[in-house]
Amino acid sequence: MATKRTPSFDSHNPATGEVAGTYPIMNAKQVSEIVAHARTASAQWQKLGFSARKKVLLSWSQVIINRIDQIAALISLETGKPVGDAKLEVSIAVGHIGWAARHAEEIMRTAYRAPGLLLSNMSATVQRSPLGVVGVIGPWNYPMFTPVGSITYALAAGNTVVFKPSEYTPGVGMWLEETFNEVAPFADVLTTITGLGETGGALCTSGVDKISFTGSTRTAKIVAAQCATTMTPVVLECGGKDPVIVAVDANLERAVDATIWSAMANAGQSCIGAERVYVDERVADKFVELAVQLATTIHAGAPGDGNYGPATMPSQIKVIQSHIKSAIKDGGTCAYGGPESVKPPFVQPVILLDVPEDSAAMREETFGPTIIINRVKSMREAIDLSNASSYGLGANVWSKRQGKKIAAELACGMVAINSTFSFAAVASVPFGGVKDSGYGRVHGPEGLLEYTYARTVVRTRFNVPLNLLSFKRKAKEEKLVITLTRWLKGRFG
Ligand code: NAD
Repeated sequence: MATKRTPSFDSHNPATGEVAGTYPIMNAKQVSEIVAHARTASAQWQKLGFSARKKVLLSWSQVIINRIDQIAALISLETGKPVGDAKLEVSIAVGHIGWAARHAEEIMRTAYRAPGLLLSNMSATVQRSPLGVVGVIGPWNYPMFTPVGSITYALAAGNTVVFKPSEYTPGVGMWLEETFNEVAPFADVLTTITGLGETGGALCTSGVDKISFTGSTRTAKIVAAQCATTMTPVVLECGGKDPVIVAVDANLERAVDATIWSAMANAGQSCIGAERVYVDERVADKFVELAVQLATTIHAGAPGDGNYGPATMPSQIKVIQSHIKSAIKDGGTCAYGGPESVKPPFVQPVILLDVPEDSAAMREETFGPTIIINRVKSMREAIDLSNASSYGLGANVWSKRQGKKIAAELACGMVAINSTFSFAAVASVPFGGVKDSGYGRVHGPEGLLEYTYARTVVRTRFNVPLNLLSFKRKAKEEKLVITLTRWLKGRFG
């Protein structure tokens, strides 16, 4: 908690506006000191080895499970989401902790590579080493699931972590540090720092060995620029404008159920939430009818009342409102709700139809409980329109027979076929996007390897008469290499 001398900020209950907690705004000097401590601890954490680290991480997940009511209540307080949703988020996060803990050793095992014909007297290996200290910068929309997807994989790989949670959810960030320290063998393995954007900026230039950032594309560009000044590598998990493609042979009931949930759950504040639907015109009327029917059964309200909560970040309301208005101004129509659905801090469900592709509502991330449904003449058109976005995070495809074919043509990081969100909960697969949705991956082996570097070791197993890397090399040896090159056409490499 903040003292009188340190500048501080408040986090709020977004449903009521009441102060939920007060936290210090850490400055660059404090951040550097914390990173220095984390660096000292990293050698010890690395030395501990995979099985001891696995034990610590599994104990941590046990503590989290034991206190799921406590952490779900805190997530709900700081974000405004229903407690049930918060519990689901915690469960998925725990799944990631278990998976990373159990698989890190196998993923980082030294790989033996073929040295090639000409160097067959050598052994070639690739070792994986942890980076040292990883800085994690998190968003507020899934304040536990999202950062844990970076923190856990970085820790399992043998790094220590300094975590800067969003200023909207600092309490969840502190809770993660506190519970980890209950099972940690020593201090400074996972440290949470609190503050606003500047504290995050200080972490970027503090000398950490990598930054794992999750947040908006706008901030990601600033983070990447800051990291460039210190040559700090960075993983960027940013926003999206995820499309849903509905083919003529889709199970419409299921497609509508999942799409409305994907778009509206968590008040539409999901990076992989459905934002635009491209539905085959032959089934479009039925799809819209079912979507409107479903929307009438859900409403926003405070935890315990609504199917989803308020907008966690009050400033997002303006974006949601402007997208609804621009969709209508640009020629779209409202099938359910409209500008009047925005009643801060809540936004009731909104379904918009036939919005032109160049409307801001179709191009920019809305991050609210709204969905746009546009008709298409063919799946070709649906694919092309999906790919025309500047974003490329996730996508959903609904079709009984064409799902894999359509998925293969989508320019994005993740596709769910006849499902939504599922890839986020499967710990063994990577999560991330392309284009403005960022680069690098979290989760799965690819996500774990982000927090390691490859060290190549090539060793002479026995000496051979042909020694090309020597001033004593003879002309006839050079000739032999050229003959071999011609003969093998580069296959000896
Ligand atoms: P944001 O970009 O406003 O903030 C993210 C974090 O960056 C916060 O902790 C913030 O304090 C910090 N920050 C702000 N300025 C900074 C700076 N100059 N240097 C370093 N750090 C700085 O994002 P948000 O509003 O918290 O989160 C919502 C966004 O996150 C949405 O766009 C959503 O799509 C995206 N998101 C993406 C994923 C994913 O995995 N791709 C997951 C969840 C959320």
